[in-house]
Amino acid sequence: MNASSPDTPRPEGAEPPHHLTTRLVHHAYQAPAGFMAPQPAVHKASTVIFPNVAAMRAREWKDKTSYTYGLHGTPTTYQLEERLATLEGGLQCLLVPSGLAAIANVALALLRTGDEVLIPDNAYGPSKALAEAELLHYGIRHVIYDPLDPADLAARITPATRLVWLEAPGSVTMEFPDLAEQVRICRARGVTCALDNTWGAGLAFAPFDLLGDGTLGVDVSVHALTKYPSGGGDVLMGSITTRDQGLHLRIKLAHMRLGLGVGANDVESVLRSLPSMALRYRAHDRAARDLARWMARQPAVAQVLHPALQGSPGHEHWRALCGAGEGGEGAAAGLFSVVIDARHGQQAVDAFCDSLRYFKLGYSWGGPMSLVVPYDLPGMRTRSAGHLRPGTVVRFSIGLEAVEDLRADLEQALQSAFGGH
Ligand SMILES: *Cc1c(COP(=O)(O)O)cnc(C)c1O
Repeated sequence: MNASSPDTPRPEGAEPPHHLTTRLVHHAYQAPAGFMAPQPAVHKASTVIFPNVAAMRAREWKDKTSYTYGLHGTPTTYQLEERLATLEGGLQCLLVPSGLAAIANVALALLRTGDEVLIPDNAYGPSKALAEAELLHYGIRHVIYDPLDPADLAARITPATRLVWLEAPGSVTMEFPDLAEQVRICRARGVTCALDNTWGAGLAFAPFDLLGDGTLGVDVSVHALTKYPSGGGDVLMGSITTRDQGLHLRIKLAHMRLGLGVGANDVESVLRSLPSMALRYRAHDRAARDLARWMARQPAVAQVLHPALQGSPGHEHWRALCGAGEGGEGAAAGLFSVVIDARHGQQAVDAFCDSLRYFKLGYSWGGPMSLVVPYDLPGMRTRSAGHLRPGTVVRFSIGLEAVEDLRADLEQALQSAFGGH
């Protein structure tokens, strides 16, 4: 036996272990190879077994050619990573325990003391909180830019800027930026740009091919798999997708050092939901647009914020990027917000949200159950948002219930909270 070759397994004991307890740990049975089923197997491991010391020394943890430790990948995590890379048009993908962990992983991999990161004013709230607290403690400055004004973004890039976050559309207020122009600006200044692609989900547009001709794309796409890829409201997970091996390795090194592992059962849940995601996304989209248009006609509603609706902030940019698919209807997530007219106070808005029966009060989105959240917008914005009407912002995530039931629910809650509106 040549024990120096990584391919040679160590000898197994000829006799089964004497004690039953040992036999339950070291069992000789190996299931035959060749099993096939629609769902991939769930491989669970912290420890990965090496066939011999030479293999232990030789194996490379940085790529998907082998296995070294559960944190660095199993057949199950590799499968989901490869499918997500395909979904988003990337070449490499990493799984992390949440969408926010994806944002943090990218920031900690790419930013150092003295660096600056640019964040849009309508960014996902916890992404701003990360910059305001943790990143600041490391001596990393963040600068807020106007997502609807590419000139403002360009003016805020300095020699210290190392990373620009992009979000299309922004969280809660749903402004759709001129993403292609924003990426052009970052390219021209040599600054890495990272997109929070949770809304687009890899379905509404291609983050690495914004013009459809392969010439323009973001550097990094992060995705809260918690939303549509999971689709159940029961899993927290995130992904980080890239098309540059060097950039991927920088992020993967930080991932390894920070220990951002994911559980195999959660990966299995996402693998199970992924094949139906495009169908679900389409259904959420249709129902959300239907209800958003209906809400726009209600007297209590001063403004509807949904990028696919005419007049919504950045609608023309949504149309340019996402408008071609689905027979010209374009694609959008099943999310929208409304501004309840300022003549109705916060108590009435709270009563409206409390009166809803099918729309449950809860954060997150992308699951089967419709959700509603009232927001305190002034506390979330650095600048005044002149494109928003005065009033209270309420966000809806449309689930998979029948749209007629949801409409009736909105109608009774509007009536009960605002009377004749
Ligand atoms: C939900 C969400 C996240 C964070 O995802 P978690 O898995 O909940 O941490 C990040 N960005 C956007 C736009 C989100 O909607």
